[in-house]
Order: sequence, then C-alpha cells, then structure tokens
Amino acid sequence: MDLQDRRVTVMGLGSFGGGLGAVQFLAQRGAQVTVTDNRSAAELSESLAQLAEIPSITYHLGGHQREDFSTADLVVVSPAVPKGNPFLRLAIDSGVTISSEMNLFWELNPACVIAVTGSNGKSTTTAMTHAILNATGRTCWLGGNIGRSLLPHVAEIRPEDVVVLELSSFQLEDLDRLQRSPHVAIITNFSANHLDRHGTLENYRLAKQAILHWQTPTDFAILNQDDADVVAWPTRGRKLFFGLKDMGGEGLFLTGQRSAVFRFAGRERTLTVPKWLSLPGIHNLQNALAATCAACALDVPDAAIESGIRGYKALPHRLELVAEVSGRQFYNDSLATTPESAIVALAAFEQPIILFAGGYDKGSDLTEMARAIVAKPVKAVALMGTTGPRLNELLDLFDPEQRVRRTICESFQAAFSWAVSESQPGDILLLSPGCASYDWFRNFVDRGTQFREMALDSGQLMASE
Ligand code: ADP
Repeated sequence: MDLQDRRVTVMGLGSFGGGLGAVQFLAQRGAQVTVTDNRSAAELSESLAQLAEIPSITYHLGGHQREDFSTADLVVVSPAVPKGNPFLRLAIDSGVTISSEMNLFWELNPACVIAVTGSNGKSTTTAMTHAILNATGRTCWLGGNIGRSLLPHVAEIRPEDVVVLELSSFQLEDLDRLQRSPHVAIITNFSANHLDRHGTLENYRLAKQAILHWQTPTDFAILNQDDADVVAWPTRGRKLFFGLKDMGGEGLFLTGQRSAVFRFAGRERTLTVPKWLSLPGIHNLQNALAATCAACALDVPDAAIESGIRGYKALPHRLELVAEVSGRQFYNDSLATTPESAIVALAAFEQPIILFAGGYDKGSDLTEMARAIVAKPVKAVALMGTTGPRLNELLDLFDPEQRVRRTICESFQAAFSWAVSESQPGDILLLSPGCASYDWFRNFVDRGTQFREMALDSGQLMASE
C-alpha cells in the first residue's frame, strides 16, 4: 500500500479515535491528508489537539468541499457516515477508491483476529477476551470500536501476535466489501438498535452477520445459545455456543452456580468461571462465558483464563464500582442511556438499591423501566432531568402507595444528597439513569465522573448529617 504523496481525504474525524488513527497512519506513510468533517473545529477540539504535532494536514471543517471527493486518490470514510451521503456518492462516481480506518487495518494486519460484535456487551466482552489472552504472555492488541485505533501501530504487529477487536455494525458493513471475517467471531446478542441508520431490523441483522460471512471451516463462531436470534446465524466456520444452561451441545455452558463445562471435539474441560468473576449481573456472566468460550477455542490454558477473569475490572461507566463508603457501595452505570440497560443493571443486585434515574428525553418508553423499579423493589429513586416527572407518573401508576420512596430533583447535587440521606449500610447507590445525559451534563462521561467524585467525597456528607 504505497501512500507516499497520495491525496487522501479523511471524511469524519470524530471523537472516538478511528478518524484520528486514520490520519496518524496516513501521515506516517507520507500521504497528503485533508481532514473534512461536518462538525466545527470547536466541536472537534479534543481530536484536533491530538493532531497538532502533525504538520501539513489540510482541514476543511464545518462542512465538506466537492473537490476533496472528486479529485482525491483515496477517501477514508468514518463508519458514522451514512452510505447514501452525496459527497461519498460523488467520490464513487468520480472513480475514487473508498476505504475506512478498519478496512485499511484489516488489509495490513498480519496477526490472527478475534472480533466481537452484538447489540449489548461488546466492549466488556472484547476487553475480557483481551485480558484473558494477555495473561497467556502472547502479545495481544486491543482495538476497534472500543475506542482505540490500531492502524497507526499496524507495522508493529507481528504474525504471531493476536488482535482483539470490537466491531460495530457500521464497521462490519464496510468490512464485508473486503470479503474478510475474523478467525474467531463472538456474537454477544441481538436486539433492535440503530434502526435509524440501518432502516430495518433485517438490514441491521445482515450488517452484523457480515462478521461470519467469509469464515472458513477452520474458523470459529462463538454464538449466544440463549439468544433465539443469534443461535441460528449462519457460518461456514465451526459453531461453539455459550449459555446459562447445559443442553449437551458444543461450547461453554454453566453447569451450576459456580462452574461451567467446555465441550468440543469429544473432549470436556471444567472451568469455574462464575467463581472467578467479580462483576455483578447475569449479563456480565454471559460476557465472561463468551470471552472464555473464545479462549477455549484457541486452547488457552485454565491459568490464563482464571487470571484474566479474576483481574478484570469493569470498564468505566459500565456498572463500575467507584466507591465504598460507610458500608454503602456506589455503582456508576452512566452508560445506561436506554431503559433496557437500566433494567439489566437493576437485575444485577440482591441488596437494597437507591437508584438515580431519568435524564434527557430521547422519546424512549419508560414504562418497563418503571415496572422493573417497582418489581425489584427499589428502596428509593432520585428522579433527574427532563424525564424525571414522567418517570414519576409511571411509578405512581405501578406503586400508588409510594412504597418506593422518590423525589424529583433540581440538580445532580441535590439528587445525590437526598439519595445519601435515604441510605444505610448495606445499600447500593446506583447511577443507571436509563436516559441520555444531555440536559444536565455534557455527556455520559461527564455524568459518571461527577457521580464518582461525589461518591468518593460522600463520607463528609454522611458525617454532616
Ligand atoms: P456495548 O459495547 O455493546 O455498548 P458494553 O460492554 O459497553 O456494551 O456495556 C454497555 C451496557 O450494556 C452495560 O452497562 C449494560 O447495561 C449492558 N450490557 C452489557 N452486557 C450485556 C449483555 N450481555 N446483555 C445485555 N446487556 C448488557
């Protein structure tokens, strides 16, 4: 791939690392890079700061210019750009080659790839798989949709290394054009998501299934036995399942509260996965089973699996234990921006929960979330943001006697103080809002970080009462 002096347009710099990685890589290879993005320089300031040291990049921000598409040698497009975008069409009609950060990586990467996709649990499963493989002592690279581009490092990757990638449906749609699939493909689960972009559930499913399209009989597909959709996905690779119940198939299955069996090619191995895992929730156990099943397919020894899972800490803002103060545990699940994720979080605990719920109104139906709060039963709810009052009305419907204590809060600080005043030792204080954050916060990271800071300082709050 000779990129020296080639005119390359990077469309969509973004904030998640993919665009950055592409620009860094192209500059390393001597290309003449133009970065263009709909968003303004102010909106992209964090990404731009990381490119400050690379000279000679041309920036066309706050919109696109036709020449960047009609006269380039190559357009590297962000997975966030819809396929029908008129500038992208102009490039195609002008005979310009189109690629993406992930496709460029895939064309150059010499190592074996394990890739994870699904509707939920991708990042967690990817990071767990990486943790397990890392414990084998083999050089193991982590990247993709999880927020790190491996493209600028591709020259350092050796054939004997292993690469663990999280792939979104958009990245998989592009990858399908290369006719490549990973050696080990993990699919966590499948549910309606991103239908705004893919149009129909069928299109979204097809995009995800691209992870299996080009597998050969020596590859592995790791599929969720408990997901009625995924269980039937087609592949030419070897199918291994993971599941909460052993029905005698090939793969990794729970056999009791504390142990699981891996069965493949007439042999069995017992692994005490639930015992090793410190993260709460059945969903995290499923993620651990998926990662372990992939590791078993690659004959990773028990000791590495145990050490990878035992040492695994939650990714930030995903049901992350951020503080333990005076017998209370504070969990930050700020990434739970949909009611479904909040329901998953509520199901993860046996202890009494004081919940922080509500936020920006995306138009989601909060009925099931309200029902789950009452069914749990949650001890108290601090209602936040634009959706706070609506959630309150729904709670009134399911809990007219006000068994679940609740209050509509004016600020995050007020919500936090009230929640702490309602708490006692043994309680879980859980930020799992089920809504986006844009009304009170910059984004979910800002919300989770503020929660963590208040949680770490909550000793003072408790002392002052
Ligand atoms: P993704 O990368 O697919 O967004 P993450 O691992 O970042 O997934 O987890 C995001 C949220 O999704 C978690 O906080 C949790 O609420 C939910 N989640 C994680 N794993 C699962 C799973 N296996 N099934 C259902 N929900 C899950």
